[in-house]
Amino acid sequence: MNVPVPGEIDRRLLNERSVPGRIGLQMPGLDVPEQPLPDAGLLRSQEARLPEVSQPEVVRYFTALSRMNFSVDTNFYPLGSCTMKYNPRVNEELAFLPGMAGIHPHQPDETVQGALQLIWELQSDLGEITGLPGVCLGPLAGAQGEYSGLMIARAYFADRGDTGRTVALIPDSAHGTNPASAAMAGLEVVTVPSDAQGNVDVEALRGLVDQRTCVFMLTLPSTLGLFEPNILEITGIVHQAGGLIYADGANLNALLGIVKLGDLGFDIAHSNLHKTFSTPHGGGGPGAGPVLVSDELAPFLPTPLVTRDGDTYRLTAPERSIGRVNGFHGSFGVLVRAYAYIRAVGVEGMRQVAENAIINANYIRVALSDEFGGDADRICMHECVFSPQAQKAKGVSALDISKRLIDYGIHPPTMYFPLIVPEALMVEPTETETKDTLDRFIAVMRQINREIDEDPDLLHDAPHDAPNTRLDEAGAARNPYLRWQPDEDSQAAD
Ligand SMILES: *Cc1c(COP(=O)(O)O)cnc(C)c1O
Repeated sequence: MNVPVPGEIDRRLLNERSVPGRIGLQMPGLDVPEQPLPDAGLLRSQEARLPEVSQPEVVRYFTALSRMNFSVDTNFYPLGSCTMKYNPRVNEELAFLPGMAGIHPHQPDETVQGALQLIWELQSDLGEITGLPGVCLGPLAGAQGEYSGLMIARAYFADRGDTGRTVALIPDSAHGTNPASAAMAGLEVVTVPSDAQGNVDVEALRGLVDQRTCVFMLTLPSTLGLFEPNILEITGIVHQAGGLIYADGANLNALLGIVKLGDLGFDIAHSNLHKTFSTPHGGGGPGAGPVLVSDELAPFLPTPLVTRDGDTYRLTAPERSIGRVNGFHGSFGVLVRAYAYIRAVGVEGMRQVAENAIINANYIRVALSDEFGGDADRICMHECVFSPQAQKAKGVSALDISKRLIDYGIHPPTMYFPLIVPEALMVEPTETETKDTLDRFIAVMRQINREIDEDPDLLHDAPHDAPNTRLDEAGAARNPYLRWQPDEDSQAAD
């Protein structure tokens, strides 16, 4: 065994800990007569090879892993587009109540009336918040909400015998899931350019809409964190051409209580409950991306919906439903958290959430635009985008700046997105951060800017103290290594 060095990270954490014969728990003895298995073929022929570790070692392993992580519970996490806001702890407690966490989707409706009522009320709340009253909470992520919404658009036109509408118009600033969902829904994607200010190029849009337009899919606020000033003209142009207009409302933080998508002319939207309505997310955790539509499109919503009949709630299928988009009724635990969040914040608080999100983002925008190439003049919504091209000219990239932030205990902003902004750094502070935290972030960014002139290698080699430094992200995504495997069977085994 190597002699440990004081202060060094215990590297054993990352190594094999399993020792044959070591046991971490004790099974109770058999207290019923032993029975032969009805079908011995169901029994595996070989012992399952599991890690053999003691209980304290398991606890230390997971605790140590958690300490290698960044999270909103440990650090400021200004990840643009992903809204990493604080998730009130009471929401967790409510989601874990036995009546919430212990129910089964196959239970008869009459035994889960409370859960169905919660779904029904959340459907109504989201309909009210967005002005799109037809709501299905089923989709499990934003991207699945997009897919559902686009399938609704297709079903709506098919129902009218208007089969030539096969084009989805999508701005060049869109989130990558938009064109992917459109392609999956069988639509042809046509890109709409942005103008010099980052708004939709209205004249270009006018030239692109025609009788083949199925939907125009627009993110609001845009992925640049900007409110689309020509939105009413845009919805008018699309409707005049007979198309539908889809709002990517993944992030509603800037709109809550201020403006409703339905009032702006949108026909379909999705919203990510795991961004706007609490729920801890990241790392691919559970989400919910409800799809929201106007009354006219409601008959096409996915199934099931919850309807109320007097005092009884039941699961029903809309008349001309596009069908199921997943096995059951959605990510119920996420729905409970969203419901709790909306009830706790209330109507008044909703607007305050949006206003504080907007003020926080603008505070950072104004403080850092001169140094980091942001738009100093235009008010942003819940997030702001910087373009550190001057730093790039000195040999320091947006990636280097992001990595250096880790040394200061700050999670990097979203990088290199939207694609139309060179060296993009997209900062979303959220409404839950204090002014002190924002001031510290601003001070750190300014200090990093000084370091670029004084000692650029500090940035090139960053982060200096993190458990991992520069990762092969593409490799990690393509060949994920997510679980323990016994030493002998290398990864080729499965
Ligand atoms: C996050 C996001 C999505 C996708 O949501 P997922 O839940 O990750 O599928 C779509 N559009 C925008 C603008 C987003 O920010």
